Amino acid sequence: MSYKTLSKEELIKLEEKFEKQYISFKDKNLKLDMSRGKPGPDQLDLCMGMLDVFNSKSILNSEDGFDCRNYGCLEGIREARELMSGILDSSPDEVIIYGNSSLNIMYDTVSRSYTHGIFGMTPWKDLKEVKFICIVPGYDRHFSILRHFGIGYVNVPMLKDGPDMDMIEKLVAEDESIKGMWCVPKYSNPDGTIYSDKTVKRMAALKPRAKDFRIYWDNAYGVHNLYDDYEELTDILRECSKAGNPDMVYKFASTSKISFTGGGLAAMAASKKNIEEIKKQLFFQTIGHDKMNQLRHTRFFKDIEGIRAHMKKHALILRPKFEMVTATFEKELSGTDTASWTKPRGGYFISLNTMEGCAKEVVAYCKDAGVVLTPAGATFPDGIDPEDSNIRIAPSYPGIDELKAASELLCLCIKLVSVRKLIK
Ligand code: PLP
Repeated sequence: MSYKTLSKEELIKLEEKFEKQYISFKDKNLKLDMSRGKPGPDQLDLCMGMLDVFNSKSILNSEDGFDCRNYGCLEGIREARELMSGILDSSPDEVIIYGNSSLNIMYDTVSRSYTHGIFGMTPWKDLKEVKFICIVPGYDRHFSILRHFGIGYVNVPMLKDGPDMDMIEKLVAEDESIKGMWCVPKYSNPDGTIYSDKTVKRMAALKPRAKDFRIYWDNAYGVHNLYDDYEELTDILRECSKAGNPDMVYKFASTSKISFTGGGLAAMAASKKNIEEIKKQLFFQTIGHDKMNQLRHTRFFKDIEGIRAHMKKHALILRPKFEMVTATFEKELSGTDTASWTKPRGGYFISLNTMEGCAKEVVAYCKDAGVVLTPAGATFPDGIDPEDSNIRIAPSYPGIDELKAASELLCLCIKLVSVRKLIK
């Protein structure tokens, strides 16, 4: 029954009912958190065997004989580049292994363009205006990097098969100040969208006015499938090459949500020309990253097939959680016309849209009753969701019983806030 078709009297009756239910929820003194997109301890336990792959008697040489205990090997040991090239869908020669965080690499990549410029072009710090395309809703930390450097943004909406490419083609062709674009191409944060083959090809064929325009391809969830029958993502770097734009993309990934969130491997891939330029600057930053960790990862996972098998174990833990949340939404909200939500087939988030102007209040009501959600607006640059509608749900960390209680409360808050809005 759509709440939008109810009379005022009917809505007031519903309000009274939901208010009572809300008070009894409050009496339960819940203390739950659905805001953190991080793996649960049981997922991290899956990787504890990695700590046993060597001990004080082990020989810690890479396959080509490099002593991983020592300085050197700036781009990372060969077998780690091979392992990460499987996730990044690139050749090992196009890959550099960094430390444990891909966000750190993304920050560095923007920072380098800001201070030194790309391929000898004007550093962004010396330009009057620099802007990025931000696909919304999106990942708040991408947006924070821009804010940190004083880089502006243009929002472009996410559609069913990726961002609005008509808008992007026009923007980059007309505006020389647009220097980049954040993309999470597989199971996007927070919508769970996979960019279609057509979208990737259109992106690779962009004709940007700015010669130093780059696509920041953050494939954070490339192997994070919840179901065995998953959709493959077309590789952007190969498509860029075919389209005559070989240097237009930087790809990023990490094992943060594969091995240890606090101790994984992060890597980037790009054309050989880009990689050479990046390595020249990296030379000033480090003599080499943590090769012992690179060795631990390669000895534990062996290859991309090892990673895929491991991700199936993650899926067994995560799938029931995602399904529990979406089933609760279905049961409690379906037909009420108060919210819509995504049903992702991978990644870490569910994206929920309330009626316009309700998200902040829903989050506040949940908090008052003991359930913390990601702040409304966090999925938009500067925390401003023009429709005050999007809420990012992170089902991975809480246990399944906690998740059930939290989802039920969330649905109740949506119904209560929506009914109150309709009464006004
Ligand atoms: N990129 C996206 C899209 C994410 O959602 C996250 C974490 O939630 C990260 C990057 C962070 O990755 P890392 O741990 O490798 O820094």
